[in-house]
Amino acid sequence: MGVEGSKEINDLQHRQENQIMSKRLIVMKFGGTSVGSAERFRQCAEIVAGAARHDRIVVVVSAVAGVTDLIFRTIDAARRGDSVATEANLKQFEFIHQQLLAELFDRKPGLPGSAYKAVQDFIADVFEQLRSSSRALLALHSDVSAQTHDLLAGLGERISACMLAHCIQRMGTTSEFVRAESMIVTDNNFGNAAPEMEATAAACKSILLPILERGAVPVVAGYSGATRDGQTTTLGRGGSDYSATIIGAASGADEVWIWTDVNGVLSADPRICPDATTLKEISFAEAIELAYYGAKVIHPKAAYPAMDAGVPVWIKNSFSPEAVGTKITQAAAPFASPVKAVTCVNHATLLTLVTGREVHSAELFGRLFLRMGQERIDTLFATQSSPEHALGLVLRREDGIRVLKLIQNIFRIELAQGVLNPVNVQDDIAVITVLGESMRGTPGIIGRVFSGVARENVSVIAVAQGASELSICFAVPSIHCADIVRSVHNEFCSQADFAVAACVQPGVPMASEVR
Ligand code: ADP
Ligand code: ASP
Ligand code: MG
Repeated sequence: MGVEGSKEINDLQHRQENQIMSKRLIVMKFGGTSVGSAERFRQCAEIVAGAARHDRIVVVVSAVAGVTDLIFRTIDAARRGDSVATEANLKQFEFIHQQLLAELFDRKPGLPGSAYKAVQDFIADVFEQLRSSSRALLALHSDVSAQTHDLLAGLGERISACMLAHCIQRMGTTSEFVRAESMIVTDNNFGNAAPEMEATAAACKSILLPILERGAVPVVAGYSGATRDGQTTTLGRGGSDYSATIIGAASGADEVWIWTDVNGVLSADPRICPDATTLKEISFAEAIELAYYGAKVIHPKAAYPAMDAGVPVWIKNSFSPEAVGTKITQAAAPFASPVKAVTCVNHATLLTLVTGREVHSAELFGRLFLRMGQERIDTLFATQSSPEHALGLVLRREDGIRVLKLIQNIFRIELAQGVLNPVNVQDDIAVITVLGESMRGTPGIIGRVFSGVARENVSVIAVAQGASELSICFAVPSIHCADIVRSVHNEFCSQADFAVAACVQPGVPMASEVR
C-alpha cells in the first residue's frame, strides 16, 4: 500500500475515534439484585448494548445478590475454625456461579476460545483463591487480617464483571473486563477505603479511554480498589455505587446511572411503606443525608465524588428500564412538600454518659470525640444537656459496641473514681429521619412530625435537628420503627406532589418482615 493509502486509513481511523469520543460518556452501575439470575444478567447486557448504540458506556457491577454476605460468612466460619460451615459456604459460592455459567453460555466443553470456556477458567481461578485462603485460615486457626479480608470480599464482583462482559459481547457489542484494582486507587483504610482521585483519574485515562476509543464497553468490578502499592481494598458495604461515582468523576463522565430494583429514590423504603412514591429529583445534599440515615438505595459516600465533579446521578430500575428514575443533582427543583423522605436505621444504640457536677464535662466528652475521630466512628446524632452534665450518643449498633469499649478504656480512672458515672446503654432503638431542603425555614414541621409519632402512642427517646435544617432525627424503640415511619410518611408524603407510584419488585419483603 502506498503512503497515500496508509494516510487515508489513518485519517479514517482518527475520524472514527473522534466520532466515538464526542459521544456522551455514561457510567452505568448494576447492583446485586440487577444481576441476581441469568435472566437478570441478560437484561443488564441488553440495557448496556442498547445504550452503547448512542453513547460511550462504562459498566460497574456488583456481586450477585447475597454473594458478598456469603463470602463474609465463609471467612468468618474459617476464622472460627468451623470447617463444616466453611466447606458448605464454599460449595454454595461455587454452585451459584456454576449455575449462572451453565445458564448463560452454551456449554461446548473443551472448545477453546468459547465464552463458556473463558468464563469457566476465570471463575475456577476465583474459586481456588477463596478455597485456598479459607482453608489456610482454618488450618492456621488464625484471625483474618484486614488485608486478606478485602482481598476475598470483592471476589463476587470479579466474577460478575467477567460474566457481564461476556454477556454484553454476546449481544454483539464489544466488551472488556477490567479489574477494579487497576482503576480505583485508594488509601489503606481496609474495609472502608477512600479514593485518591488524582491517581484514579490517571488510571481511568490510561485504562478506560483506550478501551472506549476502540468502541468497546469496559466492565469494571465494583466495590474494590487498590492502594498505590497494589494491595486490594474495599470501599465499604454497598460500595459499588461509590465505585461508579468515583469512576464517573475521575473519567469526566456526563452522567452516572445507578440501576437497582426500585424506580428510583422513594419517599420511604418501599418494604416499609408500600405507598412510597418516586422522587423525580433530589439534591446531592439530600442524597447524602438520606443514605447516611438508612436509605439503602445509594451508598452514603457515593454522592460526594459526583457532587464535587458536578456529574448528575440517576437512580433507575433495571426491572423497568423505561421508568424515568430519580435525578440527583446540585440543585433539585422546588418541591410541594417540605419533607421529601422518611428514612430509618433500625439497629441503633443510645449511650448516655453523665459526669460528676464538679467536672467540666466538655473536656471529658472532647477526649471521647477525639478518639472516635481517630477510630473513624461516626455518630448518628448526639445530644448534650449541660445542667445534667450528660451526653447522649446515638450510634449504629456495631459502633455502639466499639464506643463502649473505647469509653471503658480511656476513662478507666474516671469510672473507677466516680468522676464519670457507669455508662447507660439503651439497645434496640431505631433512628427515624425526616428530610428535605424545603424544611429550612418552614415553621411547624417538628409539630407535625411528633403528631405522627403521638398517633402511634410512642414516646420519643432523643431528638436532634441539624443546623442546616435539612433533617430532623429522633430515636424510638426499634419495635415501633415501621409503624412510626408509616405514620410520619403518611403525615407528609401522602399529600405531597409525588408524581409516580413506587414499583415494588416481586421478592421484595414487605413491611412486616422489615420490622
Ligand atoms: P442494589 O443491589 O441495586 O445495590 P440495594 O439493595 O443496595 O440495591 O438498594 C435498593 C434497595 O434500597 C431497595 O430495594 C429498597 O428496598 C431499599 N430502600 C431503602 N430506602 C429506600 C428509599 N428511600 N428509596 C428507594 N429504595 C430504598
Ligand atoms: N457486593 C458488595 C456488598 O454487598 C458491594 C455492593 O453490592 O455494592 O456490599
Ligand atoms: Mg446497594
